[in-house]
Amino acid sequence: MIKDSLLVKIENLKFSYSANNKKIEVIREFNLDVYKNEFIAIVGPSGCGKSTLLNLIAGLLKPDHGNIELYNKNDSFFGYLFQKDTLLPWKTVYDNIAFPLTIRKYSKYEINEKVTKWIQLIGLEGFENSYTGQISQGMKKRVALAAALIYEPKIVLMDEPFSALDILTRETIENEVLKIWEKLKTTIIFVTHDLPEAIALSDRVVILTKLPAIKKTEYKINLPRPRNLVGISQDDEFHTIYKEIWTIFVEEVSIES
Ligand code: ADP
Ligand code: MG
Repeated sequence: MIKDSLLVKIENLKFSYSANNKKIEVIREFNLDVYKNEFIAIVGPSGCGKSTLLNLIAGLLKPDHGNIELYNKNDSFFGYLFQKDTLLPWKTVYDNIAFPLTIRKYSKYEINEKVTKWIQLIGLEGFENSYTGQISQGMKKRVALAAALIYEPKIVLMDEPFSALDILTRETIENEVLKIWEKLKTTIIFVTHDLPEAIALSDRVVILTKLPAIKKTEYKINLPRPRNLVGISQDDEFHTIYKEIWTIFVEEVSIES
């Protein structure tokens, strides 16, 4: 891959929390290069340090050792999508999607143009004036997705964003995410404890060990694109990859520490 497309370089990352005079070592050793237009999944058991890692990448936490280099950083470098949405329930669908542009001082005309486009992209025409406190979980996720992407961040950090959704809603939204990602050529770092989800979505699956996390191994996923996630678990090629990675993954999830 050409060097120009390198967005993030993480080297020798180490991180511990200090709580009540006790040190909790969370990341022991982590290295990763992230390139433009990649879909990377980071997968590991619950409590292994995935959210901590994303917060380090986002600059919300400071590493104890090592370096996280961001290339061509600007004010809209990161977009965020979390399990718990950060929508304003007293505001409408339209205003929630417009919010990131309003705070970035886009003109009214530009805001209207972009929000209208995004409402169409996520299939919420007719719901512009609904309050986000009164729409379904799936619709809320779509709104949060639009708000995370509307200012065209270079990298979208996703922290188990769909894990609380029922499987059908989840697969539908994930298909939409893939379509949007392919269209916008953005970069996604997607954290999950769900190995099938990681394989189905990504170009690369990075497996973390249980605490303290190190990067255990990395797999390239060569499933063809565009992918349709509905029924992908029945696909022979998917199944072969899944079985291969599962044997590595299970070593980390099955042994109680
Ligand atoms: P994951 O997202 O993989 O479930 P986290 O990154 O949330 O894991 O947490 C990793 C470990 O760090 C866990 O053992 C958790 O209890 C601990 N931890 C998380 N946040 C804090 C904090 N603010 N202070 C102390 N320990 C924390
Ligand atoms: Mg987490």
